[in-house]
Amino acid sequence: MSGVAIGIDVGGTKALALLVARDGRVLGEMVSQTPHDEGFGAGEATTKVLVEQVNELCERQSLDSALVPVGLGLPGMMRRDGHLAFAPNLQTAAGADLGALLGSALANASVFCENDANCAALAEHEWGAGRGIGDFVMVTLGTGIGGGIIADGQLVRGRSGFAGEIGHMVVEAHGAPCPCGGRGCWERYASGGGLHRLTREAALEGRLATLVERCGGEPKRVRAEDVTAAAAEGLDEAVALLREVGWWLALGLANLAAILDCGHFVIGGGLSSASEFVLPAAREHLAELVEGYDARPTITVTTSMFGPRSGAMGATLVAVEVA
Ligand SMILES: [Zn+2]
Repeated sequence: MSGVAIGIDVGGTKALALLVARDGRVLGEMVSQTPHDEGFGAGEATTKVLVEQVNELCERQSLDSALVPVGLGLPGMMRRDGHLAFAPNLQTAAGADLGALLGSALANASVFCENDANCAALAEHEWGAGRGIGDFVMVTLGTGIGGGIIADGQLVRGRSGFAGEIGHMVVEAHGAPCPCGGRGCWERYASGGGLHRLTREAALEGRLATLVERCGGEPKRVRAEDVTAAAAEGLDEAVALLREVGWWLALGLANLAAILDCGHFVIGGGLSSASEFVLPAAREHLAELVEGYDARPTITVTTSMFGPRSGAMGATLVAVEVA
């Protein structure tokens, strides 16, 4: 079988491996826990899991694991030489060259790495919500915010490979502290982690009175999940908080539109349960936040087509592109 590749999205808690045909069909799938490399050299335990995944997916289709191109999508700043330079969510593998470790373990010369959100952007551009669109930004809303920028039909990698770290645009000077060491980063406001933080803040300030009451009068017990569930039931205070997240989302998108003149945003990641309220609010607020909104062609905000699979799918394209 030719024209297939394996893509693995290596997250902080789990690794999703897919065997994908060149036309985007998913032929095999395997999910494993990401280990925490304690007691091993950087990346060793993680590499062991990735080797198992590649071998398993290849065995199922009678493929030679030394010959199938493999792409890794990694959560952090990827240097162009394949090293993971800065990864707050995968610290045990930071500094490791997982691509080289995996390549040598499999005796496979076609193993390549890319930032996970960049992979997602490639997948959506090739087969999904960004297909046929030359200028768009993939925005993944998870614990933080990842970004992949497509400009003139190409992924923007930047000088060192670090382009697209959009979650760390500062949207509030002297704002909430961020794991990156900065303050007021966009991802502290408009991601799943941001929703969690804003929930805590709103509960303590008395803006979630009904939810606090449901949690026995204890503001600290109100969780982000309670807000999304209550919003789905139509509770006004919960809807208002999700709309606030939508405003913060729109603020970052407006900054990106000002810099890049992109007309399209593809939103992916784990905050999708809240997207019913967050995305419409973001679309409405864009009109007031984007410079010269009325002078521009319509700016669209859509959800990703492949959801949590887009990173692994796009990683196969990285492998095929450079193999
Ligand atoms: Zn930050």
